[in-house]
Amino acid sequence: PFGLNMPPSSTVPCQYRTGKTLGSGTYAIVKEAIHITTGKYYACKVINKKLMEGREHMVRNEIAVLKRISSSHPNIVTLHDYFETAHNLYLCFDLCTGGELFDRICAKGNYYEADAAGLVRTIFKAVKYIHEAGIVHRDLKPENLLFKTQAEDADIMIADFGLSRVMDDSTLSLLTEICGTPGYMAPEIFKRTGHSKPVDVWAMGVITYFLLAGYTPFDRDSQDAEMQAIVKGDYKYEPEEYWANVSETAKDFVSTCLTVDPAKRPTAAQALKHKWLADEEPHFVQSA
Ligand code: ADP
Ligand code: MG
Repeated sequence: PFGLNMPPSSTVPCQYRTGKTLGSGTYAIVKEAIHITTGKYYACKVINKKLMEGREHMVRNEIAVLKRISSSHPNIVTLHDYFETAHNLYLCFDLCTGGELFDRICAKGNYYEADAAGLVRTIFKAVKYIHEAGIVHRDLKPENLLFKTQAEDADIMIADFGLSRVMDDSTLSLLTEICGTPGYMAPEIFKRTGHSKPVDVWAMGVITYFLLAGYTPFDRDSQDAEMQAIVKGDYKYEPEEYWANVSETAKDFVSTCLTVDPAKRPTAAQALKHKWLADEEPHFVQSA
C-alpha cells in the first residue's frame, strides 16, 4: 500500500495518527504512529526540514539506503513508508517496542558472555549483509540497536542509517568527513585517512567491550583525550573485577576488532569466523 516509488504526497500524513515520543536524535524525533485504516503501529521518524537545511541530502541518502536494503534482512529495520509536508519529512519504520540495547546494558550492568556472544553474532551477520550490499553503516552504537519486542530474547535490529553512504568500490575508502559518535569512532576517521567498512567492525569492537564490561573502552575526561586514546588504540581490560568472568577468547575477539590499522582489522565475515563467534553453542564455561 505504501508509496516508496510514488511522488511525495501532502495528503498521506493524514493516514497516520502519532502518539508518544520514542526517542530523539540530532535532527529527528521518533514517534509512535498508528496507521488509521489498518490499525497497525509504526515508528515514525519526523525530521524538521528547517533543522535539516543544507543537509537534506543526508535524509535522502538514508531513504536511498533503506530502500535498497529494506525488508531484506530480519535484523534491519524496514522502512514502510515515506512522505513529506511543507515542514517535515516522515519515515515510517517497523516499530521496535523493546527499547535500545544501550538501556538494556545500563539496566543489567553488563551481559553474560554467552548472551553477549549471541547478540554480537546476530548483529555482525547483519553488518556482513549490509557490507556485501556495498553499504557502510558508520553509526553503529547501542543507541541505534533496538529490540523488536520487550521479550528478554527479542530480535535485535539495526536502525538509523542516517550517516551511512551507498558506496561502490571506487569511492570506498575515500570518504573523509568527520562524522559519527566519538566513543565508537574508528582511528582512521580522526586521522582523516578515509573510512569505509572497517569502521563498522571497530564500532562492533567497542560495542562488544561495552556489553561485556558495562562501560566503554575509550571513556576519558575530555573529548580530546578520548580521541588520542582511540588513535593510539589505548584501552585496557581493567579494572580487573569487571573482567574476571570474561574469557580470554572474548578479549581476543574485542582486541582484533579494535585493531588500529583498518587494513589489518578483520572484515565482518572474518570476525564471524573468530572462535568466540564461530560456534553457535558457547564453548566456554560461564561462571556466575
Ligand atoms: P537519529 O538519527 O536522530 O539518531 P534514530 O533513527 O537513531 O535517529 O532514532 C532516534 C531514537 O528513536 C532511537 O535511538 C530510538 O530510541 C528511537 N527509535 C528509532 N527508530 C525506532 C523504531 N523503529 N522503533 C522504536 N524506536 C525507534
Ligand atoms: Mg540514532
